[in-house]
Amino acid sequence: MATSPQDFKYPIDHLERCGLCLKTFREPRMLPCFDSFCKDCIAVYMDAKRTGHTFPCPLCTESIDIPEKGANGFDTNIHVAATRAVSAVFQRPDCDICETKDPAVNRCVECAQNMCQGCSKNHLKIKSTRSHHLANMTDPEGRVYLTSKAFCTKHQSEEITFFCIQCQQSICLKCRLTVHENHLTEDLADSATKTRQVLTNALKEAEHTATALHNQYNDYKNYSKNIAIMKGQVLANLVTQTQRLHKHIDEMSVRLSYFVEEETYSEQHYIESRTRELENAITSCKARIRAANQIVECGSDVEIVQATGKLNARMQRIINPSVTFIKPNRLEIDYIPSVVVDEDLRDYLAC
Ligand SMILES: [Zn+2]
Ligand SMILES: [Zn+2]
Ligand SMILES: [Zn+2]
Ligand SMILES: [Zn+2]
Ligand SMILES: [Zn+2]
Ligand SMILES: [Zn+2]
Repeated sequence: MATSPQDFKYPIDHLERCGLCLKTFREPRMLPCFDSFCKDCIAVYMDAKRTGHTFPCPLCTESIDIPEKGANGFDTNIHVAATRAVSAVFQRPDCDICETKDPAVNRCVECAQNMCQGCSKNHLKIKSTRSHHLANMTDPEGRVYLTSKAFCTKHQSEEITFFCIQCQQSICLKCRLTVHENHLTEDLADSATKTRQVLTNALKEAEHTATALHNQYNDYKNYSKNIAIMKGQVLANLVTQTQRLHKHIDEMSVRLSYFVEEETYSEQHYIESRTRELENAITSCKARIRAANQIVECGSDVEIVQATGKLNARMQRIINPSVTFIKPNRLEIDYIPSVVVDEDLRDYLAC
């Protein structure tokens, strides 16, 4: 048993199976929406789901008026029974009623018996079986047509053979000559032909609706496929751009660090050679000072005086060494990161 109409999908073979129990129909009844269910299935469903005098069709959810007689008030879907009856016995078309060799041409849906032409005629004459439905078994394409007679509820022996256009009611000959005497009437067969034509035209329109629905469905399917493709492309582009930016940033970073390495390296190199030069100058300066000091402290007066010119010249070389005094031209390097990074990145990613 179903819980709610939304739980349902049309069974694939919904012309042969009940949409509620999903089994082959038992006493199929057709709702005004053309959907059919077993009589018992729809009765239980109707009681469970009714709101006032209506309930939603289990398949299409259309609001259905509950008949006064309950599930019995829905039309019997005789066509399901007829199709099933004929297809079940198509292989042995013998008359089940008489002993003649005549082949069966019909099968009575109510009695589940095959009948020859003669027995078929009799069957529709006998009072107890005259309203039964005969399904033909001889259509070359296997189509099933039903033959049935209806009888006037007032004149019980009279077959209904006319249609009163004014009252929109099918009537018997006696009714036509009495109650409907001055009404415009027509032969039931003509009326059926016209009705069939109207219905056939409506069916063509319905086919157009089905095609339109199907086209729309395909539209949505394609749309869904396109969305997936589009999404894939956009995400791929985003990844490519992100990788491109990453690569770019990495390259710039390498270039910048290389520049920093290069600048500091040459300066370091210069500093090293300069300090070596100064070390030598300091050593030689100190040695000369020591030597000159010895001469000043230990030398005899005559020696010092005789060598005055030479000693003064030497002292001048200590005071003014060949090494020059150069103040280091200090290298200044710094890295100041930009503060508007977020905005710029948004620009690069175009978001
Ligand atoms: Zn059922
Ligand atoms: Zn329905
Ligand atoms: Zn027969
Ligand atoms: Zn019968
Ligand atoms: Zn009548
Ligand atoms: Zn009438």
